[in-house]
Amino acid sequence: MKMLIGGNWIDKSRKIDVLNPFDNSLVDTVPYGTAEDINKAIDIAQKGYEINRNLPAHKRISILKKTADIMESRYEELAKTIASEGSKTINEARKEVGRAINTITISAEEARRINGETIPFDSAEGSENRVGYYYRFPIGIIAAITPFNDPLNLVAHKLGPAIAGGNSVVLKPATVTPLSALKLAECLLDAGLPAEILSVVTGHGHEIGDALVSDERIRMVSFTGGVEAGEHITKKAGLKKIGMELGSNSPVIVLEDCEIDKAVESCVSGAFWAVGQNCIGVQRVYIQDLIYNDFRDKFVKQTKSYKVGYQLDENTDMGPMITEKEAIRVIDWVEDAKEKGANLLTGGTRKGSLVQPTVFENMPSTTKLDCEEVFGPIVTLYSINNLDEAIDKSNNVNYGLHGAIFTNNLNNAFHAIKNMDVGSVIVNDSTDYRVDLMPFGGVKRSGLGREGIKFALQEMTEPKVVCFNL
Ligand code: NAP
Repeated sequence: MKMLIGGNWIDKSRKIDVLNPFDNSLVDTVPYGTAEDINKAIDIAQKGYEINRNLPAHKRISILKKTADIMESRYEELAKTIASEGSKTINEARKEVGRAINTITISAEEARRINGETIPFDSAEGSENRVGYYYRFPIGIIAAITPFNDPLNLVAHKLGPAIAGGNSVVLKPATVTPLSALKLAECLLDAGLPAEILSVVTGHGHEIGDALVSDERIRMVSFTGGVEAGEHITKKAGLKKIGMELGSNSPVIVLEDCEIDKAVESCVSGAFWAVGQNCIGVQRVYIQDLIYNDFRDKFVKQTKSYKVGYQLDENTDMGPMITEKEAIRVIDWVEDAKEKGANLLTGGTRKGSLVQPTVFENMPSTTKLDCEEVFGPIVTLYSINNLDEAIDKSNNVNYGLHGAIFTNNLNNAFHAIKNMDVGSVIVNDSTDYRVDLMPFGGVKRSGLGREGIKFALQEMTEPKVVCFNL
């Protein structure tokens, strides 16, 4: 595919290969974008901002609604694109397309609810004759940078609210999965989005990222990805608004009073969805000692039933990791844990980019698997004595995106809700639960700010005060 700069589909002689991670077969190529392309895209985005901020809300709404309809008509094609350039199975990819359509639809709905409020100026002495209000205006040009693991819906989470709010956008999608983003851009243009409002520049983040995030014309950087890139971008961005959706190593607490079969099923699915390459994927499970053996045996049995293989095969439960390099890294972490004394219950092997779903217990605190984000299909089970011990251990990491608890006791649930140091607490499901309209984001090194369309719209617009002196 070509990249999109201000309505023109641009090709280049130098290309980047987009490979199927299962067998490295060529899916397509995209142009090798440069800092110069970024600069052109920002030039055009200045016009795009002028156009979009002056579009009436009903126009933005109808463009976004029509985009959702076009995506619906291209449903299977979009799912196949996600599953060919990325790791997801075709069934996981279909779910992502459904969610992305929902994300764009909600963006259309929220575009009519960008509200302000009146201000009680007369509450201040001397301001008795003042009346006024604030309304929200678009922030300007937004740089959007997205990761590989949800290559369509996480792009929709930036483009939908940015456009709904009246901004223009320069998007840099993940280099390994640029095709889904380019197809979403096609849908938006076909729906009538004025061409200057959106550019999609393909290219390597470490080469073109600085040109994008440090440009003073950019008013906000909306980033989803890993902590390392996030920190680099934060330093380079300078004086502009920053949204950071970063990683985690999500904890789930399983208490003896829960429905154990439901907990096992949710945690297995949450650990291995998208090959564990999921920012809210289950990585650490704290199980009360009385039910530990029962939970562990059922968990391992279900894990062993997973079919790992070609992601476009309808019967595959778990596809390949995004690259063989990532699979090698994950197995290095596994070997490190084994050497330090962790007990491997199942998995721990790889063939090319395919990693078997892996379960550990007795994980020493000196391992990366215990405290860092693995972003792969590796989960550790821990036996705990009581809820407070589980909460302490859950919180004893640098991340805090989602936390979860399985219990049928309301007091236990509320104790966890109050004390878990995370952006969301899920009760009686795993951490791998999200709907696209909820506020989504984390504390500590999991990020800054919130997405979820209404909440992203708050970040992507600013209040302007109007005050009349009567
Ligand atoms: P990544 O390596 O950080 O890359 C994310 C994006 O940043 C890519 O587009 C990448 O471009 C770009 N990038 C890398 N270095 C950059 C730089 N110096 N300047 C500007 N852009 C740069 O992350 P990933 O491996 O794609 O995704 C995995 C991470 O994302 C995990 O940590 C996961 O938890 C996190 N994540 C968080 C959320 C959330 O909502 N909180 C959701 C999904 C994923 P290239 O592809 O060209 O390197």
